[in-house]
Amino acid sequence: MINIFAEANCNRYVRDECQYCHVYEPLSQISKSDWHLMPEQAQIMVNKILQMEIFHELAKREINLTGGEPSQNPHIVEIFKIFRKLTPNVRIHTNLDINSEKSQRWQRLVEIMKFSGRVDFTLYPTVWESRQKPLLIKILGLQNELIVNMIFEKVSDLLNQFKTLITFFGEQEKKFQSVLSLLGTYQAKLESLLGENPECNERAFLKHMEGVENYTCTENFTFGMNMIPGFYVNKNGERAMNAQPFPKDINLLECTIPRGTIEIITVQQTGEITPCCDVGNLKCQPKFGNLLMDSPAEIMSQLEVSRKKMVSGTLKNQQNMNNGKAGEWVEEGIPPYCV
Ligand code: SF4
Repeated sequence: MINIFAEANCNRYVRDECQYCHVYEPLSQISKSDWHLMPEQAQIMVNKILQMEIFHELAKREINLTGGEPSQNPHIVEIFKIFRKLTPNVRIHTNLDINSEKSQRWQRLVEIMKFSGRVDFTLYPTVWESRQKPLLIKILGLQNELIVNMIFEKVSDLLNQFKTLITFFGEQEKKFQSVLSLLGTYQAKLESLLGENPECNERAFLKHMEGVENYTCTENFTFGMNMIPGFYVNKNGERAMNAQPFPKDINLLECTIPRGTIEIITVQQTGEITPCCDVGNLKCQPKFGNLLMDSPAEIMSQLEVSRKKMVSGTLKNQQNMNNGKAGEWVEEGIPPYCV
């Protein structure tokens, strides 16, 4: 998958107001507050991706246009069409914090769905009833798949989000029975976990949820969920390595690159390619070059240099953890808990 920043602005999390937004600092590096990815830049990216087999393969799997809030980009429909040359799986990730069907932001999403793009959204309980719910009903009439992201600060918050979705899908037509069944499984699991172990650690949480699928697929509808623990981000934009729901556990990141695979890359607003889904707040220093400025040959050579740093850095991180030096940065510039 390739994540591509398509917009700096975010109507809900105005960057100066939400210090916990994970893209607060990476986006604040842009001097222009009205920065949008432009169609010409998207075309440059496509041309280069086509020349690099490794990135072309990632792009074929899925391209996720994100931000900021990509529906705010006035060119997002055109940009969507440009990336569609690489894959039919171009997704738009929205906060769905839109106040009316007359909004241009909503009109853009509708147009994208009519071209068979998929709109995914993050559930925000504070705007669910007034803004997200009415438009989600419309989305279900326009596309037959959906991914919901749920960011949670406590396990009980996650349970409440499941209850919200169960109420919602229970009010919809019969074709969502499999969605309701999946959501019901999670609700029961979370309720039993909270009953037995309300202050559970991450290991107990994962063990309890083990084996439950996070998606369901019928011939009528495909539904998936991402459950993402919240993290504090400090004033320098650096992400804490303890999740909010599990503050006593260090969040180890298993880097796939030393294991020989690249599963995801993120292209930031500058064109910088960060290996993995780091939007910038993990401060991983080895990059893969710049998709706007560098030639494909330069990017491929940078990729090899960075790969070697990750192999060496993850090994040193492991050694540091075994020797009581967990949390120390290594000279390779990879975050201390990447292993
Ligand atoms: S070292 Fe960590 S931050 Fe860097 S690419 Fe690997 S997992 Fe991502």
